[in-house]
Amino acid sequence: MASVQKTPQHHQQHHQQQQQQQHQIQQQQQPHATNNKINHHPNNNANLITGTGTFRDGLVAPVSDDRYKTEDVTQTKGRDFEDFFLKRELLMGIFEKGFEKPSPIQEEAIPIILQNRNVLARAKNGTGKTAAYIIPSLEKTDTTKGHIQVLILIPTRELALQTSAIVKEIGKHMSPTLQCMVTTGGTSLKDDIMRLYNAVHMIVATPGRILDLASKKVADLSKCRTIIMDEADKLLSPEFQPVLEQIISLCDPSHQICLFSATFPVTVKGFCEKFVDKPYSINLMDELTLRGITQFYAYVEERQKVHCLNTLFSKLEINQSIIFCNSVNRVELLAKKITELGYSCYYIHAKMQQANRNRVFHEFRNGATRHLVTSDLFTRGIDIQSVNVVINFDFPKNSETYLHRIGRSGRFGHLGLSVNLITTNDKDSLRRVEKELGTEIRPIPKDISRSLYVG
Ligand code: AMP
Repeated sequence: MASVQKTPQHHQQHHQQQQQQQHQIQQQQQPHATNNKINHHPNNNANLITGTGTFRDGLVAPVSDDRYKTEDVTQTKGRDFEDFFLKRELLMGIFEKGFEKPSPIQEEAIPIILQNRNVLARAKNGTGKTAAYIIPSLEKTDTTKGHIQVLILIPTRELALQTSAIVKEIGKHMSPTLQCMVTTGGTSLKDDIMRLYNAVHMIVATPGRILDLASKKVADLSKCRTIIMDEADKLLSPEFQPVLEQIISLCDPSHQICLFSATFPVTVKGFCEKFVDKPYSINLMDELTLRGITQFYAYVEERQKVHCLNTLFSKLEINQSIIFCNSVNRVELLAKKITELGYSCYYIHAKMQQANRNRVFHEFRNGATRHLVTSDLFTRGIDIQSVNVVINFDFPKNSETYLHRIGRSGRFGHLGLSVNLITTNDKDSLRRVEKELGTEIRPIPKDISRSLYVG
């Protein structure tokens, strides 16, 4: 468990105003937050395993997570990771990560990716998509060779960092050592160039930076045979699509492409027809929303929103929350208001300096603060298991964004709550989201049972 701490860190000279505000936000702590610790679910303690005669001997047994899980992750065919004939050192990494059994998407995707096929995979948020492509990618990586073998493309920098950290964790027992490099915009290009003088087996990248490195011939993708596109529909938005096409053309011609997302709008179709030959389709989305998340709305006037948020903070048992606003300005303003109310919070958005973004992300993940106010930068993929409440301070513009936002709680089949503050202007959008997602967003009751969202 990590307690709430007052930890303002190094402040750089640039963007002083922004950082001062961030500093101020971090200084102020909510009295009840310091009393109630943030509950984490780490997968590490010091139980050394011996005498099983299996690959587990000598490993540290992870703490098993016995919180209730929904069918979104438990409805499997009953496979074990051993059934995929993975290398021993990979099984070791999976075990130490705390993964006991493959989730439904992992059961489906791992064997198909191992067959070098193109894959189009759809599964709900937080049901184990990341490991569904990382595990077979690692299995196919030969660390005795020095070239780039796998390219994982990711739409946002924070998500790229999170993904590369998981690659390193799961692949940590591989020998010779797995070299995984993360490369994104907003960091030093020179450092990346220097890094590429050494062996790299796997690259996790945002599209712009890897195209830059590959077209300069600094990153040699010519022997890269596995291309993974996570949050594929976002990657295939019009701004990224031409970049992706160029990146693909620089990879080994006999590559496989695996696309993963919870949402696949029609825009993806054209790309698939052109670039993804005879894909194996996996669709685990017979319904769209996660079973573990209860969704409520509260009708408010714009000027009552902060007051309403204050009431939610005092009434709900929030372990950690993510609060979404529809613009960068509103993120900063709201974070200031929350701080003035005496609650601890950080904020993050795409216009912040990258080093600052990384620090906020890292500290929020480590439980340094209870609330995070954000723009849609944090809508996708970000996996923080201790988040049990998502609040749409501003209702999102479309159903896909809504689905990804609320999927920040209820990770891996756990319980979560989503609360939407709705003004008169949002009424139509609320109904549209309900219709398009086939879900019910109910009026918020006076008392919300903790059994709905406290695991
Ligand atoms: P993802 O959908 O990839 O973002 O994963 C959501 C969460 O589920 C992450 O916190 C993972 O660590 C966790 N997870 C993924 N696969 C498994 C598994 N087989 N068993 C337990 N937890 C898992």
